Amino acid sequence: MIRGSCLCGVVRYTISGPVSKASHCYCTMCQKQHGAAAGSYVNVASADFRYTAGAEAVKVYRSSPGVQRAFCAHCGSSLSWQSDAHAERIAVTPGTFDDPWDGEVSTLLHLESKPSWMGALNKE
Ligand SMILES: [Zn+2]
Ligand SMILES: [Zn+2]
Repeated sequence: MIRGSCLCGVVRYTISGPVSKASHCYCTMCQKQHGAAAGSYVNVASADFRYTAGAEAVKVYRSSPGVQRAFCAHCGSSLSWQSDAHAERIAVTPGTFDDPWDGEVSTLLHLESKPSWMGALNKE
């Protein structure tokens, strides 16, 4: 079980099943949404993901047809990414985890738009 929450703490969630396919996504939409070099996500079964508080504060932005990006309406924390075509899976942001997670990122997505200001880290 992994517990997570947004920056302001209004939205809380739990993940009750296995976490797989962790990624950093460098697509320009993830950069915009996260305000960062990449959006980091782990993949879980939708049935294992549950809001335990503040579900009414979760807003969804459709960044492209069939894609939902969920965030806290109060503090803006990015919470999840989900494709309508694969609603049985949800990509959750490990940056919002409260419990330690001992997995690691195994996939880098959209490296073509990795920002040059990553500097020396860009060699990886
Ligand atoms: Zn919040
Ligand atoms: Zn992305």
